[in-house]
Amino acid sequence: MNAAADTIAAIATAAGHAGIGVVRISGPLAPAIAAQLLGRVPRERHAHWASFADRDGAIIDRGLLLYFAAPRSYTGEHVVELQAHGNPLLLGALLARSFELGARPARAGEFTERAFLNGKLDLAQAEAVADLIASTSQTAARAAQRSLDGEFSRRAEALSAQLVRVRTWIEAAIDFPEEEIDFLAAPALRAEMEALRLALDDLLAAAQRGVRLTDGLHVVIVGRPNVGKSSLLNALAAGERAIVTEIAGTTRDVLRESVTVNGIALTLADTAGLRDTDDVVEREGVRRARAELARADLALLVCAPPDESVDPGLLSALPAGATRIIVHNKIDLGAQAPRIEQRNGNSHVWLSARSGIGIDLLAAELQRHAHAGEGSEGAFSARARHVAALQRAQLACTQAASALAAQQGELAAEELRQAQHAIGELTGAFTSDDLLGEIFASFCIGK
Ligand code: GDP
Repeated sequence: MNAAADTIAAIATAAGHAGIGVVRISGPLAPAIAAQLLGRVPRERHAHWASFADRDGAIIDRGLLLYFAAPRSYTGEHVVELQAHGNPLLLGALLARSFELGARPARAGEFTERAFLNGKLDLAQAEAVADLIASTSQTAARAAQRSLDGEFSRRAEALSAQLVRVRTWIEAAIDFPEEEIDFLAAPALRAEMEALRLALDDLLAAAQRGVRLTDGLHVVIVGRPNVGKSSLLNALAAGERAIVTEIAGTTRDVLRESVTVNGIALTLADTAGLRDTDDVVEREGVRRARAELARADLALLVCAPPDESVDPGLLSALPAGATRIIVHNKIDLGAQAPRIEQRNGNSHVWLSARSGIGIDLLAAELQRHAHAGEGSEGAFSARARHVAALQRAQLACTQAASALAAQQGELAAEELRQAQHAIGELTGAFTSDDLLGEIFASFCIGK
């Protein structure tokens, strides 16, 4: 891929951190800059004790200088790291010195972007670097580490290889029209297609778990007015360090608030916002309420006496894959005991948001869902864009299977080509500059 011609530098430690600070330099000038700072040519992969001096020879700080020659470095270019005291003033002076010597300020994520462009990391791995830095739990960090190690990429590549086999088969069939029908109807091809479908479903489910690990669980609280949704949100957040975000809205605020408790984001959505309406303002509210429901991993459907039925319109607005927990609130008013039961594949919890009885049962159930899949071997971090790409691949494979069943080889081949393109987006085999810009801009400077 295209190598960058210039040399970049940045402080690679969060500003204000005590202890060690690092200035990282990458590019063709890095060894020359290091030689200037050291007073001699640096040895590769050797820790040099150095007195870093400014232009006039005054010492900025003393510390270690490390030189990694291309291509055996993080970025694949010549890289120099200056380790000094973690004082932002000193690090700033060191950085300024490296600019004087020919480097320019690095943009956010530019080191990792260069690593990607030089083939040191694929895109899923590069994203894992950001996830690792941002991870807020040990589990999330371990998952990001697995993605960084290439766990996700390997599975994506295996899938891509499977796709190539099937495509080769079908495209060969198209090239021999007199035998095409037999080729396309072969049981071995059907078996390959089925294996492909299963592998794709598997990877999609794993990526969805990965997103949950990275982003936390998105829970919406829905139900008719006055059933106790706000009370439930408050009860769940009680005693926790909850971050409350007011969801700025229209005059008819549909989404009232959102809190994050232990990595679980709870959002209150009013069902009033789901009804059909001609009112422009309200329609915007409906759109947002539906959008919020559509991205939910889990919905708390709250009901209370006397009407404990769940609104069917609401159920249909939830994504098929979202888990539903039916919350029977206000048990303090009746004779129900706090408990949890499984019925028709849904959990039902009886509690009282006001008195707090049964809230612990619900909290435990939420934690269980949030951590579902965490213990499983090989959990890796993933992002919404990975899930979207895998869903596109899944759709294309389903359509390819229908086309095959109808003996439409050309159509099947085209669908499979699209599926492979979608899979290629995971590792960055196929990407647009816009996507790359978006991904790396979300990194911090120095990474
Ligand atoms: P929302 O409109 O669904 O958000 O409902 P609110 O949380 O505002 O509650 C509506 C009314 O029900 C308020 O007067 C609450 O105090 C009351 N409420 C909420 N939870 C309970 C409960 O567990 N028991 C009883 N008795 N009242 C409750």
